[in-house]
Amino acid sequence: MDKFVYFFGAGATEGNVKMKAVLGGKGANLADMAQLGLPVPPGFTITTEACAKYYEIGKEKLFAAIKREVEAALARLEAVTGKTFGKGPNPLLVSVRSGAAASMPGMMDTVLNLGLNAETAKALVEKTGNERFVLDSRRRFIQMFGNVVLGVEHHDFEHELAAVKAAKKMKLDTDLDCAALREVIARYLAVVKKATGRPFPEDPMAQLWAGVEAVFSSWNNPRAIKYREINDIRGLLGTAVNVQSMVFGNTGARSATGVAFTRNPSTGENKYFYGEYLINAQGEDVVAGIRTPQQITVAGSREWAKNHGVSEAVRKKEFPALEEAMPELFKQFSDIRVMLEKHYKDMQDMEFTIEDGTLYMLQTRNGKRTAAAAVKIAMDLVKEGLIDEKTAVLRVEPEQLDQLLHPVFKKGCEKSAKALVRGLNASPGAATGQVVFTAEAAEAWSKKDKKVILVRTETSPEDIGGMIVAQGILTSRGGMTSHAAVVARGMGTCCVAGAGDVLVDAKAKKFAVGKTTVKEGDWISLNGSTGMVYLGQLPTEDPQLTGPFADIMALADKFRKLGVRTNADSPEDTTRAVSFGAEGIGLCRTEHMFFDTPGKNEGRTIAIRRLILVAEEVKSIQRQMKIEGDAKALKELQAKLARPMKQYEQALKDLLPLQRKDFIGIFKALKGRPCTVRLLDPPLHEFLPQDDKGRKEMAKQMGITADAVKKLVDGLHEFNPMLGHRGCRLGISYSEVTEMQARAICEAAAQVKDSHAEIMIPLVGNVKEFASQKGHILKIKAEVEKQKKVTLDIKVGTMIEVPRAAITADDIAKEADFFSFGTNDLTQMGCGFSRDDAEKFLSYYKEKGIYDYNPFEVLDQEGVGKLVKIASNLARGVKPDIKLGICGEHGGEPKTIAFCHAIGLNYVSCSPFRVPIARLAAAQANITAPR
Ligand code: PEP
Ligand code: MG
Repeated sequence: MDKFVYFFGAGATEGNVKMKAVLGGKGANLADMAQLGLPVPPGFTITTEACAKYYEIGKEKLFAAIKREVEAALARLEAVTGKTFGKGPNPLLVSVRSGAAASMPGMMDTVLNLGLNAETAKALVEKTGNERFVLDSRRRFIQMFGNVVLGVEHHDFEHELAAVKAAKKMKLDTDLDCAALREVIARYLAVVKKATGRPFPEDPMAQLWAGVEAVFSSWNNPRAIKYREINDIRGLLGTAVNVQSMVFGNTGARSATGVAFTRNPSTGENKYFYGEYLINAQGEDVVAGIRTPQQITVAGSREWAKNHGVSEAVRKKEFPALEEAMPELFKQFSDIRVMLEKHYKDMQDMEFTIEDGTLYMLQTRNGKRTAAAAVKIAMDLVKEGLIDEKTAVLRVEPEQLDQLLHPVFKKGCEKSAKALVRGLNASPGAATGQVVFTAEAAEAWSKKDKKVILVRTETSPEDIGGMIVAQGILTSRGGMTSHAAVVARGMGTCCVAGAGDVLVDAKAKKFAVGKTTVKEGDWISLNGSTGMVYLGQLPTEDPQLTGPFADIMALADKFRKLGVRTNADSPEDTTRAVSFGAEGIGLCRTEHMFFDTPGKNEGRTIAIRRLILVAEEVKSIQRQMKIEGDAKALKELQAKLARPMKQYEQALKDLLPLQRKDFIGIFKALKGRPCTVRLLDPPLHEFLPQDDKGRKEMAKQMGITADAVKKLVDGLHEFNPMLGHRGCRLGISYSEVTEMQARAICEAAAQVKDSHAEIMIPLVGNVKEFASQKGHILKIKAEVEKQKKVTLDIKVGTMIEVPRAAITADDIAKEADFFSFGTNDLTQMGCGFSRDDAEKFLSYYKEKGIYDYNPFEVLDQEGVGKLVKIASNLARGVKPDIKLGICGEHGGEPKTIAFCHAIGLNYVSCSPFRVPIARLAAAQANITAPR
């Protein structure tokens, strides 16, 4: 028969610490603490399996199935405590608390003081002689049970409490005397009656079962569901219910309750015992913020007083530390602190209560902590000999490291800020600045030393100048792999994308969210790590990359097998990525090299536009010449070709030195590390102006009419540009562009000592596309080698981002030196989801569980991942040593990194700011599943 109830405490503990899956974290640790001989009030845990059954077979059947076990455990609890549930003379009261296998602090329900009714209250008064305490407990119970179990609004109770306090001119809850509490209780009972249409349930057994049901059903309250989604908590059975005999922190001045951490959870410091408590209170008072909690230690208390401008005299009198108020208990608790940390080998978060001078431990668990604290605690525990290096590496959440790399908002300032809207957390960090609506405005304002936030419906490569200078970017459209998101992540600029409620009116220089309008020049603040947008200017601070952070990174490097490269396309980004530990560039996108950087008009934009203007004309005349048989007509065509050809060649000539200079900068910044340079990829229309003003400007520059520019733009229009004339298809049509880029790379490589370029051809689907482009590249390489009298270490490989390429990877591998999986396009084409628009409906897919994750963020391992695996195996079949990497956005995502490790890729490549995350995730993958 299934066992659904486990007793703990009073020397009769049935469960143990290994049973987290069934007893939940709280239940397992209570059992464990009881077995360690710590003062744990006895109780019993109803398992998570019972919760799963509750959802499977319903309340009636489940309760029938567990009734006998619960009653037996309750009888045992009565026996060991010498108290009776629901009766005098010594009534037993219990707490009913949730507790799943993964900690979900505050997400599910808890009821304290259960078992109190008019009868037990009376008995308890007689027993304790403390009427005030009993009345206080009863009003708390009615409020908590009323709210949690009966669904009465918290506010309805608070309203009555405030009314009584006001009428009696009392400020604090502790000021309420018995008469006042009686009045509060009467009012509370009336509130319940009014809201539910029934009197408050007085039968303790009915209270208990209702409490158990409330906890089970709180497993699926919206808050808990959201918490599991955000924290990626999956595959749990449900929550356990812990029914524990009550101990009281509110019986008077010798009682107290509090929460403490074995180390500081925000900094990781171990200077003093960190925690808060309140005398004569129950648990919820400490978190509710009604009274000012006091510190555990004198040192902590003094620091608190200093930060709050409280004098030492006032501190000592009104807010003494536990160390001062109850020195013996403090000593006992301090010893428990040391013991628990040694036992669990991790920082603990503990709940405790002192009842009439006796200390009780109500909970211990591994404490939640900031990234800074996680890193420091892990490294300190290694130094203290409590854990080994591998365990330390596993203790830090890779994604958490992000908090350490970007500027962040000063602690606490978001709480009081005015939230405007939430979008996608596209690129982490905190930014604050004045709103501008165009890239030009961003550049102009920043030249005047203003901090700006660029707000666009969506961004395009044209906006790059503005994006570089902006503190942050906010878009109303586009997903995690939209242009804004990818570019911003690459640059480490904070970005909130796809905030659909933001209605941008760039012409009128304003945007609206509901009734709020934000105009050009207004201050807003973005949290790119959460997607939150706030009105006004919030203070930020810089990250620290030394100390424990550097130490944990060194450990990560010791244990990982996967290489970690970066996606970077400027010397600045490269240098930054190298400082974050990148071992080379895995993807240098060259498209940004065709645009001028802000403040520097080097003629790049003009040159590429001049080239585009005549490129099709050149090709069309050349095509005609190929089929023209008549000599005279051929001559005429030749003459016709001369002018556009000259412009075409001139544009290439103008671009060559600029590109060469860029590559020299990047190769130098790499200091001997390899660099995968991808040839031109985006469709050409992305280099042309999108709006009227831009077209007029281009017309003027080119000496043509605005109409001619419009014609050019219209001519390049494609219905599916992402499946259109882009990638190697451009190089197939305009091989001179491939050759110009190849020459720039080769000449730069010839000039920079110890450079190792890997030229990468994008969007190959057919080996013949690859072979054709490789032919041009090798021809130029040979020319440069001859000219410069050097031997160049240059490899030629391809991206695998078209499904056809993945399944013909053996053919392609025969020709290619390396593969890099472009999983952005491979997801787009593999799943058939538009990179730019799919966010609109992907949320429904996640909701319905069709995809567990957004496939543009976490690699779809069963589908797209399978293509990667097939391609890798096919490639290794013909070329065992072929180098394989991944450079899509997934390359910096820990679950994808574990997958890449498992299938034996050589490296992952990701934006500079994700490099440390990837290093740590790669180490964790190898520690958990060595290869
Ligand atoms: C990809 O498709 O995964 C890739 C890296 O290329 P891009 O994002 O530039 O299309
Ligand atoms: Mg791509």
